[in-house]
Amino acid sequence: MPPAEERPLVIAVDGPAAAGKGTLARRLAAHYGLRHLDTGLLYRAVALRLLRQKGEPGQAEAAAAQARAVTDADLADPALRDEAVGEAASALAVHGAVREALLDYQRAFAARPPGAVLDGRDIGTVVCPDAQVKIYLEASVAVRAARRLCELRSRGVESIESRVLDEIKARDARDSRRSAAPLKPAADACRIDTTALGPDEVFERAAAIVDARLPSP
Ligand code: C5P
Repeated sequence: MPPAEERPLVIAVDGPAAAGKGTLARRLAAHYGLRHLDTGLLYRAVALRLLRQKGEPGQAEAAAAQARAVTDADLADPALRDEAVGEAASALAVHGAVREALLDYQRAFAARPPGAVLDGRDIGTVVCPDAQVKIYLEASVAVRAARRLCELRSRGVESIESRVLDEIKARDARDSRRSAAPLKPAADACRIDTTALGPDEVFERAAAIVDARLPSP
């Protein structure tokens, strides 16, 4: 492995559902001229392929076969945003074989110059343990549920607040208790609690972390 300063810059952004990872990752990518991969879309794409084949998220081998078949084109399907697809994605993300099948795609994306921002649950711990910058976003479950509700309503999806809260709690529990690559901050991650912060403040704090890691000009 070449020294960190010779490798493409990789920024890992991890954290639970609706902590603000996507918004931050997109802004960091635009600011530093990097590509961006929302790795949740990969798990959603596996789920969508599986559901369309009438498969079940509990079927590890069938899900892993779909994971091996995922292509760039799958990531552009608007149906990936459906709540049912997110649920199925979270359920099949527990399978080690599925996670293993998606590793190459993510690592190849990260390795291509000029570098990339990847957001997900296990980027700093498993996918890119050598990322030069690791950021872990967290926020209270109530605030995350309120943000998810706003996002759903802005897309015209009517939802009940208590149901969104229960779904986020269930997602958190499943993502952090699974044995394969559970959701947790990497030991060397910088944690940002976004509960009381707006998107601009989160971006400013994260950019200060990145700037401190960049080699001085
Ligand atoms: O982030 P998003 O909600 O789109 O991800 C859908 C599901 O995919 C998550 O609930 C999580 O279980 C899984 N996932 C994962 N590892 C990642 C990204 C997403 O396990 N790196």
